[in-house]
Amino acid sequence: MGKKCVGVDVGGTTVKIGLFEESGELLRKWEIPTRSENHGAAILGDIAASIREELEKEGVELSDVRGVGIGVPGPVTADGHVPRCVNLGWGSCYPGQELSVMLDGIPVKCANDANAAALGEMWQGGGKGYKDIVMITLGTGVGGGVVIDEKIIAGKHGLGGEIGHIHVREGETERCNCGGMGCLEQTASATGIAREARKFMAGSARPSVLREFGDNVTAKDVLDAAKAGDRIALEVMDIVCHYLGVALAAIAQIADPEIFVIGGGVSKAGPYLTDMIQEHYEKSLTLSDYRPVIGLAKLGNDAGIYGSARLVLD
Ligand SMILES: [Zn+2]
Repeated sequence: MGKKCVGVDVGGTTVKIGLFEESGELLRKWEIPTRSENHGAAILGDIAASIREELEKEGVELSDVRGVGIGVPGPVTADGHVPRCVNLGWGSCYPGQELSVMLDGIPVKCANDANAAALGEMWQGGGKGYKDIVMITLGTGVGGGVVIDEKIIAGKHGLGGEIGHIHVREGETERCNCGGMGCLEQTASATGIAREARKFMAGSARPSVLREFGDNVTAKDVLDAAKAGDRIALEVMDIVCHYLGVALAAIAQIADPEIFVIGGGVSKAGPYLTDMIQEHYEKSLTLSDYRPVIGLAKLGNDAGIYGSARLVLD
C-alpha cells in the first residue's frame, strides 16, 4: 500500500481538509470551522486533532502519511514563513513547523492558498500534464499562482503570484482593497465586472438588458447578456478582457508558462470567456509567435486541498 498525504486549505470561516493517495486520488474530504478568535491561536491545534480523528476513522496510521500541506490566505515565503495573516489573526509564524510538532514530527509544508490552488490544478486539474502553469482566479477578487517546473514561485517576500494587484489601468479613480489604483482586480474580478457595467449604464442612455438589474447587476448577468449579443455587456467584457490580456502578456514575458488556467466564479462562462481573453492576449503579446493555452480550472473549491497535498510530494 502506498503512502497517503493530507492537504489542508485554511479559509477565513472554514478549514477544508483532504486525504489523498500519492497518485492524486482523493479518498476523503471534510471541513471544520476556522476559530479565528484570540489571534487564531486554536486553528493549528484544531487541524491536528481533526486529522488524527479522521485518519483513525479511515484506519490510517500517522506513520502511513508522507506529510501534510497547508495553504493559508496570506503571503508565505518559500521557506514557509508567514510574515502575518490578517484573515486568521496570525502574526509572524511558521505554521508548517508548528503543525509538524503537533503531528509527531511528520513533514508539514506551508504555502499561500492561491499558489497551492495553482499547484493543485497542475497536479489533477485544468493544468494536468503541464509543468509550467499560471493560474488566475476570477472571483470576488483576482488571485493567482505561478508554478514553474512543478514548483510554486513564492518569492522572497511571498509576493509571487499576486496577479490581482498588477497595475494595468491608468486613469482609475477608485482605490483597490490593497490601497493601489488601477489593479487588475478592480476591473477583472466579479465585483469589478459588475462595477464596470454600472459605470457603462450610468454613462449613457443606450438600451441594454442589464438595465433590468440596475445596481444589483452581477458579473454573471453581464456574461449572459454578452453571450446573447447585448452591446453594452459586450463593451464591458471587451474592457475586462483587454486588461486581462495586458496582464497575461506581461506575465508571459516574465514566467513564460505552457498554459494559463482560469478559475473562479467568472470562469463558469467557459470557452466563451477564454476565447475572448486569448484574442486580447494576442494583441498584447507580439514578441513571440508561441501561444500558451488558455484553459479552464477543473477542481473548483477543492484546488486548495489538492495543491496543499501535492506540496509534500517533492
Ligand atoms: Zn490592488
